[in-house]
Amino acid sequence: MRRLFPVVLIVIIAGSLGYWFYGRRPPQPPAAGIPRTLAEERAGRIKDLEYDLTLTVPAKRDAPIAAHLRATFTLSDKTRPLAFDFSQPVEKLLAMHANGNIIEPAVGSGHVVIPPSVLLEGKNNVVEFEFIAGDAPLNRADDFLYALFVPARASQAIPVFDQPDLKARWRLILNIPKDWVAVSNGKEVGRTNMPEHQGLVFDQTPPISTYLFSFAAGKFTIDTDQRAGRTFRMFHRETDAAKLARNRQAIYDLHAQAISYLEGYTGIPYPFDKFDFVLIPSFQFGGMEHPGSVFYNASGMLLDESATQNQFLGRASLISHETSHMWFGDLVTMKWFNDVWMKEVFANFMAAKIVNPSFPGVNHELRFLYQHYPSAYDVDRTEGANPIRQDLGNLNEAGSLYGAIIYQKAPIVMRQLELLLGANNFRDGLREYLGAHKFGNATWADLIRVLDERTDADLAAWSLAWVEDRGRPRITLAIDRASDGTRITLTQDDPLARSLVWPQRLSVAVAYADRVDLVDADLDRAKVIDIPPGRQVLWVLPTAKGLGYGDFVLDNGNLTAIAAALPRMADALTRGSALVTLWESMLEGRFEPARMRDVLTAALPAESDELNTSQLLEYTRTLFWRFTAADDRGDVAPKLEGLLKAGLDRAKTTSQKSAWFGTLRSVATTPETLGWLERLWRHDVKIPGLPFSETDEADLALDLAVRDVPAANAILDEQFTRFTNNDRKARFAFVRTAVSNDPAIRESFFESLKDVNNRRREAWVLDAARYLHHPLRAASSKKFVRDALGLVREIQQTGDIFFPKRWADATLSGYQSPQTAAEVRQIIEALPSDYPPRLKWVLLSSADQLFRAAKILHQ
Ligand SMILES: [Zn+2]
Repeated sequence: MRRLFPVVLIVIIAGSLGYWFYGRRPPQPPAAGIPRTLAEERAGRIKDLEYDLTLTVPAKRDAPIAAHLRATFTLSDKTRPLAFDFSQPVEKLLAMHANGNIIEPAVGSGHVVIPPSVLLEGKNNVVEFEFIAGDAPLNRADDFLYALFVPARASQAIPVFDQPDLKARWRLILNIPKDWVAVSNGKEVGRTNMPEHQGLVFDQTPPISTYLFSFAAGKFTIDTDQRAGRTFRMFHRETDAAKLARNRQAIYDLHAQAISYLEGYTGIPYPFDKFDFVLIPSFQFGGMEHPGSVFYNASGMLLDESATQNQFLGRASLISHETSHMWFGDLVTMKWFNDVWMKEVFANFMAAKIVNPSFPGVNHELRFLYQHYPSAYDVDRTEGANPIRQDLGNLNEAGSLYGAIIYQKAPIVMRQLELLLGANNFRDGLREYLGAHKFGNATWADLIRVLDERTDADLAAWSLAWVEDRGRPRITLAIDRASDGTRITLTQDDPLARSLVWPQRLSVAVAYADRVDLVDADLDRAKVIDIPPGRQVLWVLPTAKGLGYGDFVLDNGNLTAIAAALPRMADALTRGSALVTLWESMLEGRFEPARMRDVLTAALPAESDELNTSQLLEYTRTLFWRFTAADDRGDVAPKLEGLLKAGLDRAKTTSQKSAWFGTLRSVATTPETLGWLERLWRHDVKIPGLPFSETDEADLALDLAVRDVPAANAILDEQFTRFTNNDRKARFAFVRTAVSNDPAIRESFFESLKDVNNRRREAWVLDAARYLHHPLRAASSKKFVRDALGLVREIQQTGDIFFPKRWADATLSGYQSPQTAAEVRQIIEALPSDYPPRLKWVLLSSADQLFRAAKILHQ
């Protein structure tokens, strides 16, 4: 009791001091990043937002970009301070005005806070910034740059309200060197000529989110064409005229087809006033959907002569995906990045529909299976499985949301939802949803509300298991053969013991001696299929039609029968479904790698569908490097290489030859095959019907070097002189260091990657990391694993959205030993308690194949 008085007094004094300081000094900035609380507070106060931005971009990549931004908006509640986001050192902010007052705002934690005294209640608040733009999200190269602001990196370059639900109309003036061109979301409507540079004026955009605002400028060639009355412009840096000519028609056609399909499906005309796209060398994503100015990775659009069917299909899907975003994501945007999956699921889901008519010879159900299931399982079978929809407290952690669960699992789930509602009902629901939120924002709950009115099913319960929670069901198949018939029982349970149920439509293939029947089954907790007596059931596959999703537990007899029957199954989709099921069974330890090798060896020569062949080849590659013990590879290699060479000889088209050759090159280890590859690279021999591009030759040179062929250094040196394209040459110069046969050079290369400035070209870094951690370099590179995984947290802060997961994947791609597995397990378990849980999931999913290989090969 005695101490009460002094303590109360101290509190009172401290409290009044705080009040005094608060009243005298500018308000304190919010926490770093974009906390959700900050975003909600601003979204409740700000509307009618416009930005007018002027940037003066010098030719030299490291010279500062002088900038001016004027934000105009309507504000309610001017009694509180207002924070802009600008994650740059304070000295980059040169001057600031708010409503005619010169102000000195509070700056810190990536925010610039304007005091209430200079804010206006209501319309016409004008805040102006004179500043030096931040470079990191502007991707400055020697003679071009491009802004990539997703998910909240705009504020690392310019001061804005960096959240998706404060959409703004943007006006942009870009002052650029006279021999540059530029593109942005709006149309170019004016141009000024100044002594030092030219000024390009872009039209005001409709309301768009900060992550969708973009521009690119530099030495690009502009290719133009028309389709259905619409003009498309393609900005590119390709120097190979033949390559451009070979590809350009298809690129324009695919865009026009996608727009036409989406206008029909959604009932909404293309929402933006022009359609340009930019092909960026070594772009860190496949594509990015900036409205009116889509970015693509150049290599995904301008295909080489040696492109495979999968690459042609991939290009069509990517164009359809980004074009779908114009409606799903750009016109109607998620309110917060926890719903980023919604734009990605619809982009992939629509792309799957759009691509079909352009490839009449392709089995699109089979393609859907391969495009989605293996990648989704690669995360969902792991300890790092994450829900489709995740809480997100701060946009600076949004990068860990991106991955196969959003891109591959969610479309599988959406297809089940479409089956549940019926295709027309589902489409009408989407139309209503898009119409209601045009140029605005919406949540998953908004969509579910619209769809719920169209079905008797309990969508909230459905969403809980499929969308809001993590993991996949375990579905156990039992075959009970008795004299009064055969009973097939499917039972579903939750491997994570939460009693979740994943309702889904299955197709069960039941094989008899003379035929295979497909039986539809709606699976809830359990399902029984009775086969009348007198029919002998040979095997049962519960994943037919590529439908069922989960860990399917099949008994050994059934697995053996499926494996034996696979090459002779008449239906390509059933073969594909069986293949994925066997592979997953192998990863679960129910089917030995040696038996899997027998399946692949028997199936490859018999396969007639190119998609199946590609997947068989993909599994062959993984089986060789990951699931064959390093000491056993020498025994397996001659037969495997012979099988692949025979396939290459047999292949009829360039695409098929390319797929076979790609796998052969990837697994080659015998002196005979390496000698032949070297002669190919030297142009001493050729593969009839398979032309090599500059990229193919470069990859071959790198693959020879990582195998330490005697002439490795001379090959790399000569390859460097062969390039005619400077972008490809620059990438090669970077990556070749990672394959050096000098361990000291590789070590200093790895050390250099600890500096963020050496990690800016993410696509180069990932290529290099895969070579650095190549299985043939595992012994000398495993010492990098600890530091490489240690960098993931920093990479999430400094890199683009896909980089943390891809970096972790590349780091762990080459290992299989129990020692490395144990070390990685220890690294993950020793993570500090404040380590972001989602990032830990990223590590656990990246480590999954290593953990499984170590267990399967050494149990
Ligand atoms: Zn997307």
